[in-house]
Amino acid sequence: MTREKNRLDRPAAPGLEKTLGIRFDVLDDGFVRVVDYMGTDESIVQAARVSYGTGTKKVHEDRGLIRYLMRHRHTTPFEMCEIKLHVRVPMDCWRQWIRHRTANVNEYSTRYSEAIDAAQTTPSHAWRQQAAANRQGSGDFLDSETGEYLSGREKELQDVAREVYEERLSKGVAREQARKDLPLSTYTEAYWKIDLHNLFHFLSLRMDAHAQLEIRSYANTIGNEIVAKWCPIAWEAFVDYRLNALLLTRLDKEIIEQISQGNLDEANQIAADNGWLSTGKTGLKSNRERQELETKLTALGLSVPWKDDIHKP
Ligand SMILES: Cc1cc2nc3c(=O)[nH]c(=O)nc-3n(C[C@H](O)[C@H](O)[C@H](O)COP(=O)(O)OP(=O)(O)OC[C@H]3O[C@@H](n4cnc5c(N)ncnc54)[C@H](O)[C@@H]3O)c2cc1C
Repeated sequence: MTREKNRLDRPAAPGLEKTLGIRFDVLDDGFVRVVDYMGTDESIVQAARVSYGTGTKKVHEDRGLIRYLMRHRHTTPFEMCEIKLHVRVPMDCWRQWIRHRTANVNEYSTRYSEAIDAAQTTPSHAWRQQAAANRQGSGDFLDSETGEYLSGREKELQDVAREVYEERLSKGVAREQARKDLPLSTYTEAYWKIDLHNLFHFLSLRMDAHAQLEIRSYANTIGNEIVAKWCPIAWEAFVDYRLNALLLTRLDKEIIEQISQGNLDEANQIAADNGWLSTGKTGLKSNRERQELETKLTALGLSVPWKDDIHKP
């Protein structure tokens, strides 16, 4: 009788329950699907209020608490929620993904089994140019004629690589050696289990515009299709206080303060004193920190204050 009284019901996330096991397509042949999960928004609240127990607070108070925890980086309650995903990802994208060390991972073994016979292909309209300003990023799309040529060459390369791989297997080469020339576009699969705190860290880096488009596509799917249904209140707090938040450094704050008071000379002086306004033959030299502030000023609807006469070395 006492044992029955103390029995607990597992908290369930109704929105996520409906999608358990269902594949969310990503890229041309990839997917993410939820295999299992533990905890909900309620578990975050329960952990934070461990000394009080559950059931006494109203929903809006729970929301307020979760938002407070997110704002003030009280992170451990978010670790009470865990999720296990089954993912299918091209190997170049997986190479970025696996850098996140706080997950538990089991990957498909191409020593044990034949490599998955699928490689990510790029449609002719989707070849991206090297970005001019960012050495790690992409710029505009290449023209369609070049795109068609590149997609054709991609197919030739992928076909030959697969053919050579299968030929090696047919001649008795070990799978662990035969795989060495498979392209990075080859799909791999893994089970990936992570807690919500570390997942938010992954999403903050990989949903960001600086992340490569391919991994960003996976991160957006995990965030918008899965976490938003799993822990909607925590997700909303993450979007408000991390994903769409704007970090201002000390220098940013000092310059913005001067701009807001109309002191543009002072704003320029602070930037110049910190070496942000050096000039070359063609005007202002590139300065990453200054350019990051320019992006923030635009986001805030403020004009960039730099004046020509203060740039002179
Ligand atoms: C846009 C972008 C560009 C990148 N470019 C490059 C690149 O050019 N070259 C490159 O090598 N990598 C690159 N990376 C990978 C990056 O440096 C990180 O390895 C990756 O984002 C994982 O981040 P993390 O270590 O914070 O995450 P996780 O491994 O998930 O760790 C989460 C947090 O746990 C803590 N933690 C985990 N393990 C340790 C540990 N052993 N010691 C101390 N603290 C720990 C840290 O606080 C860490 O932030 C890039 C990442 C991004 C998003």
